[in-house]
Amino acid sequence: MSRSPSRVVICGAGIAGVAAAYHLAAEYGLENVVLVDEGSPLSLTSDKSTEAYRNWWPGPDWAMTAFMNRSIDLIEGIARATSNRINLNRRGYVFATADAGKIPFLENMAKTAEAHGGGAARFHDTTQSAYTPSPERGFEVDLTGADVITDPHLIRRHFPYLAPETVAVAHARRAGWLSAQQLGMVMLEAARASNVRMVRGRVVGIDTSGGRVRAVHLEHQEEFQKLAATHVVLAAGPMQTETARMIGVDLPIRAERHYKISFADTLGGLPRNAPMLIWLDEQHLPWSEEERAALAADEEARWLLGTFPAGVHGRPDGASATIVLFNHHGEAVDPVFPLPEPEHYAEIALRGMSTMVPALKAYNGAPPRPYIDGGYYMRTRENRPLIGPVPVEGVYISCAFSGFGVMASCAGGELIARYITEAALPDYAPAFRLSRYQDAAYSALLTRWGDGGQL
Ligand SMILES: Cc1cc2nc3c(=O)[nH]c(=O)nc-3n(C[C@H](O)[C@H](O)[C@H](O)COP(=O)(O)OP(=O)(O)OC[C@H]3O[C@@H](n4cnc5c(N)ncnc54)[C@H](O)[C@@H]3O)c2cc1C
Repeated sequence: MSRSPSRVVICGAGIAGVAAAYHLAAEYGLENVVLVDEGSPLSLTSDKSTEAYRNWWPGPDWAMTAFMNRSIDLIEGIARATSNRINLNRRGYVFATADAGKIPFLENMAKTAEAHGGGAARFHDTTQSAYTPSPERGFEVDLTGADVITDPHLIRRHFPYLAPETVAVAHARRAGWLSAQQLGMVMLEAARASNVRMVRGRVVGIDTSGGRVRAVHLEHQEEFQKLAATHVVLAAGPMQTETARMIGVDLPIRAERHYKISFADTLGGLPRNAPMLIWLDEQHLPWSEEERAALAADEEARWLLGTFPAGVHGRPDGASATIVLFNHHGEAVDPVFPLPEPEHYAEIALRGMSTMVPALKAYNGAPPRPYIDGGYYMRTRENRPLIGPVPVEGVYISCAFSGFGVMASCAGGELIARYITEAALPDYAPAFRLSRYQDAAYSALLTRWGDGGQL
């Protein structure tokens, strides 16, 4: 690096802030890094995730794929260096549909992913076609890209638990899941071992007199403290909007509530070796005739008979639990904590997932002791993160990680470290800067952006 900043203060110790601290101190050798949080590290949003990762992203260009490939490289590096303490697997994501009209879409997704650097697209439309299943454990797998299977026998042979109506699946290979908590802890421990100082406190003000950052003001148990800073990283997750306003910057981000359920899958609904499973079709939740009649007669519950969006997804979790996430409620909200209890969430999620995996119907919408939790997806319109400088000298943002902040954390933290140490930036850096919105061509592109790949 060309000069040694005297002090970097990182506001927020979620996985984005922890990854920035880790890269700055442990990987890039900065000596004076302070990580501030008003709560416990890694406990607000970063412990609520489904812990999954993928390099399978829609366009319009290669930037998101390159960024995630880099992040997965770094995650794999941590897995290797720790004898896979982070429990990384490579089971892949299986996107499935019962709608033959979506086959061209899946084929196109696979080809586009290939063109963007996600790995080869392979097509299987005969029973004899050579499709290689993903291993249950481990992550040292060469297979990347995706396999699109449209032969019904091949689908049944490899995915016997999917709905018999399934006509196509796309199995994205550089994907799977890990322990997000362990990933965060490995980085936090390494950051601490490299002398990153943890400070408990709420950031209540940022001194930017003279047009550059000078200090961060903290409050903790009615005591105030000022931390001098030459560089500040704002990584406040759901509170990033207010934090950026402290320096007079309005960020184009919104918050959406997202929940998930986890339950003891005592009836063996999801096989333990299954990959991440995503249903691509809109649906009506499966109800019995009797239930349907009762719901139709109940004005307050009638909405449960309506159309639910595509995208319910789930995966096995360890020896017995199953996790299901159904984002059927994507409106923008103001983040409040604790999150309000979502109405009928466990039942909706489980019934929705049982459309894809009929064995889950055995629970009749009532999983045993479901554990429901969730958090906020902070996202930009096009579902790309914001990482980089803002118009106040010395301030950087690392936010808008939507439903991909765990998988993006390593490349996000590295990118912040490269900005602050003035190292060479990767090709994808401009795609995530706030200044992209000042580009007229980018604004025009936004109007026809399409699907941002949100799950
Ligand atoms: C249901 C659900 C499922 C998800 N599934 C996945 C998945 O499968 N894969 C994936 O990669 N991602 C997933 N995500 C997304 C991922 O969890 C988030 O993108 C990520 O955790 C965001 O991390 P963060 O560090 O930006 O925010 P947070 O974890 O929220 O951390 C922000 C920190 O800033 C602190 N803070 C805020 N304001 C202040 C202040 N003024 N002063 C001091 N401290 C402050 C907070 O206390 C908090 O600790 C999921 C998210 C949800 C909700």
